[in-house]
Amino acid sequence: MLSYQHAYHAGNLADFQKHALLAWMLAYLTDKPKPMTYIETHAGRGLYDLGGDEARKTGEAEAGISRALTEGWLPETHPLRQVLASVRREYGPDAYPGSPLIAETLLRPDDVIHLAELHPAEADALADAAPFAHLHREDGFAMANALCPPMPRRGLLLIDPSFEVKADYDRIPRFIGQIARKWNVGVIALWYPLLADARHGPMLKALQVAFPEALRHEVQFPPARPGHGMVGSGMFVVNPPFGIDEETRRLDAIFAGL
Ligand code: SAM
Repeated sequence: MLSYQHAYHAGNLADFQKHALLAWMLAYLTDKPKPMTYIETHAGRGLYDLGGDEARKTGEAEAGISRALTEGWLPETHPLRQVLASVRREYGPDAYPGSPLIAETLLRPDDVIHLAELHPAEADALADAAPFAHLHREDGFAMANALCPPMPRRGLLLIDPSFEVKADYDRIPRFIGQIARKWNVGVIALWYPLLADARHGPMLKALQVAFPEALRHEVQFPPARPGHGMVGSGMFVVNPPFGIDEETRRLDAIFAGL
């Protein structure tokens, strides 16, 4: 039984880090004329309403994307700003794009998108938000395993679990190892929480041993609520696109100023 709903957390500081890096990587990949594949194992609903009850209840977006826009953390030319502007033109000023909609906005007609979402209501909403994608109402790990190596061969896989299933921490290094063996040119990006109790530590250690050349980018931020266990967020990227260091340095400077 899945209980996590991203609507409570959409646009928070963790999303800001993840979506800024994702949008940057997709803009880089789509800058070249060859088609690409985008695969996402844990897609969510794709489109969020920051004026809705869920977002207002936690106020996490206020401290994240809303503050980022007010304070001009990213230049208007940044791909995440461009996607946000395009999505708000279509859906209104409180709309916020999840990762599938970031991909749908940046990818081109010849590119291919595969999204997995297990929660029936989230998957229904996703079908509306991302009509050009192939929607898989199944386990995202199994979907990605079956699809890789994909056609077109160039591309990016995003793994963004809610980590509700604690076994995810154990299975992810094995899963990324399997995918990387089958798809050695794929960009494989994992988002993970930095937890006060360091539960994510062994997973990261295993990933770093297996992929010493990968990018590990982490930012720290104040917990959303007193006592909340998440004290930051990270992205681990196998085969990171050239030039991404400039983007991670930009994010480091933003988070250092919080
Ligand atoms: N990636 C999204 C974004 O950035 O906009 C947020 C995704 S949210 C953190 C995780 C989603 O994964 C939830 O909507 C949940 O229902 C779904 N989910 C959980 N376990 C799954 C599984 N094994 N396969 C596919 N989806 C799953």
